[in-house]
Amino acid sequence: MMRVFNFSAGPAVLPLEVLEQARDEMLDWHGTGMSVMEMSHRGKAFVSIAAQAEADLRELLQVPANYKVLFLQGGATAQFAAIPMNLAGPDSVVDYVHTGAWSKKAIGEAKRYANVNVAANAGEPYASIPAQESWQRSPNAAYLHYTPNETIGGVEFHFIPDTNAEVPLVADLSSTILSRPLDVSKFGLIYAGAQKNIGPAGLALVIVREDLLGRARAGTPTILDFAAMAKDGSMLNTPPTYAWYVAGLVFQWLRRQGGLEAMGKRNQAKAAKLYEAIDDSSFYANPVAKGARSWMNVPFTLARPELDKTFIAEAREAGLVTLEGHRSVGGMRASLYNAMPMEGVDALVGFMREFERRHA
Ligand code: PMP
Repeated sequence: MMRVFNFSAGPAVLPLEVLEQARDEMLDWHGTGMSVMEMSHRGKAFVSIAAQAEADLRELLQVPANYKVLFLQGGATAQFAAIPMNLAGPDSVVDYVHTGAWSKKAIGEAKRYANVNVAANAGEPYASIPAQESWQRSPNAAYLHYTPNETIGGVEFHFIPDTNAEVPLVADLSSTILSRPLDVSKFGLIYAGAQKNIGPAGLALVIVREDLLGRARAGTPTILDFAAMAKDGSMLNTPPTYAWYVAGLVFQWLRRQGGLEAMGKRNQAKAAKLYEAIDDSSFYANPVAKGARSWMNVPFTLARPELDKTFIAEAREAGLVTLEGHRSVGGMRASLYNAMPMEGVDALVGFMREFERRHA
């Protein structure tokens, strides 16, 4: 067996221990004589898997009791529409902060359902977070939406925006959830596609404060109605059972690692090592303002872009894969999610130094 260091932005690397456990339980989950994939979602076995996953997630994120945890489908993209449908009326104003390609998509979708006020726009090329003092917020917004980590630009908020109690804070945490502790009580709603720090694609998480439920506008598809989903324990229809199960294994793995405090320290150290290597070199560059650099997605360019293809090919030879930057921006991008060990970062940094020595 040959495992590579996979720097994909998502679907992304999963912990080896989790994959091994899933393999060992594949044909016969805990004496049931069947795979989790083959189980009824309403049977005792799967209901226990689902409940354990939720309990472990609540423990990891210290989710307050007045929040519902939903295990949904449609990725983060379905939530781009579901959020305005559930939290705003057609005539409401909703505030969005535009810091990159993903907040832009969220804004585009929200515009179909509500009046969007772009409270701040970092502008392209996305490389910083506009200072909060400069945000033009609406006095009576139904919510304020932002994207704590922009997966493509590698731009991350290292603070939680202030909101007053009347304006719920909504965050797309797709590429940074579970990377460090988070004060969930500061948010009205957080959501994330699973395929980076949670588990396999096909699952999306929504964590929502209970008082925000039950306000969905008329015409909201039942499947996108958070209150209907909460009422049925995310089993209004058949949920993505296998993805939910693997996410549960990831949550248990995170608890064994020491929880989010330990992951935060490790993730910070991993990112620091890579940024240091980039900053120490005149061959590599990262365009993002230092205070807004992502711990999870590190884009970088080569001083000689004609070498991009050679870099990718030689990295692959060295067992370092999926380092291509997003097709919209080019260059390189290394994603350092929870399951990427420090050894992967060490191997990448070693390769980068060696490549520079040969080609600079
Ligand atoms: N938001 C962010 C920050 C993302 O990184 C992504 C996926 N890369 C999405 C939304 C879209 O997620 P999905 O593909 O699960 O709809």
